Amino acid sequence: FSSKLPNVSTSIFSVMSALAHKEKALNLSQGFPNFESDNNLIELVNNAMFNGKNQYAPMPGIFSLRKAISDKMENLYQVRYNPETEITITAGATQAIFTAIAATISKDDEVIIFKPAYDCYEPTIELFGGKTIAVQLNPEDFKIDWQLVKSLITEKTKMIIVNTPHNPSGKILTKDDMTQLETLLKNTNIVLLSDEVYEHIIFDGEKHQTAALYPGLAERTFITASFGKTFHNTGWKVGYCIAPKELTHEFRKVHQFNVFSVNHPTQVALAEYLKTPSNYLELNAFYQHKRDLFLSLIKESRFEFSPSKGTYFQLLNFKNITEENDYDFAVKLTQKYKIASIPISVFNENTLDTKVLRFCFAKTDETLKQAAEILNTI
Ligand code: PMP
Ligand code: GLN
Repeated sequence: FSSKLPNVSTSIFSVMSALAHKEKALNLSQGFPNFESDNNLIELVNNAMFNGKNQYAPMPGIFSLRKAISDKMENLYQVRYNPETEITITAGATQAIFTAIAATISKDDEVIIFKPAYDCYEPTIELFGGKTIAVQLNPEDFKIDWQLVKSLITEKTKMIIVNTPHNPSGKILTKDDMTQLETLLKNTNIVLLSDEVYEHIIFDGEKHQTAALYPGLAERTFITASFGKTFHNTGWKVGYCIAPKELTHEFRKVHQFNVFSVNHPTQVALAEYLKTPSNYLELNAFYQHKRDLFLSLIKESRFEFSPSKGTYFQLLNFKNITEENDYDFAVKLTQKYKIASIPISVFNENTLDTKVLRFCFAKTDETLKQAAEILNTI
């Protein structure tokens, strides 16, 4: 039997969370909150279950949720997406990403991604016979060299994948980045996959640059998003994909045979919950507080950092502390100091060790204080 994915092993998120559990360490590795979703939202799910919303949802998702997403896009960015033909509810952003790639990529197609990259892009591309063309982000500031990207585009380039705010670096794409990308893609058939799961977690008054804002991008883009990130329930696995009609049509062909449809009662609840914009608008301030608290508590530590601009991740550089590689150091911190993080070389196929660890600050203030106490002793 020959493996279709010979180089894939268990994801680092599972590995570090399991180690944290075994070692009874504070788990700031895998990205998930250690506090609960709003009780009102949980009650809405309960009500939906008691009201008989327990059978298959419609294939593209329930209309009221697609409509609520469409309204959110209009409210935030003044762009209109047709809920009937351009929005599909998915089992988390992971399935949206998988389906967008499956619907687009065939053997020998090239897909440009940026490293360090979130872990699900590359294996999915590979699974459909595509070839990943990796562009290394500048390890200091994680900026994209658009001239380099331009030089890598060939006749076989089928897709480019961007992620803003960016996991793991916490960097965001700027207006200038998006305009450069728009210029680059003009007069090509290249599809864009814009992974925007951290759309509502962005700091210091910056504005999220969704691909939807740029007409030359929007016409060719799958935008993927995750309610797990937005409403603190990563375990529900509900997300969505927004794309123009033609792309959505192809997307749904795969979606219907991939999952057919997504968890019904949570969709009913999310549709209702989204009607109150403050439920998502308050998220920036909520996480800005957590980022600022975490960073203020560790400012005297030996870790170096530049503040995360978005996501709920903070990179900490440990070059002043040890020469060990990031993986070994992450394991040691978990075993000996009882705090778990993610070594970022794993987002780079374990090749580029920049002595940087990723810490998730989607944690209670109490947990962040405990984490800081530990980090200050190292
Ligand atoms: N993209 C990025 C950049 C992520 O960090 C994650 C993980 N949360 C996902 C996609 C997957 O999201 P979901 O949990 O909704 O599948
Ligand atoms: N996105 C989360 C992270 O970056 C993990 C999700 C997963 O475990 N696949 O930590």
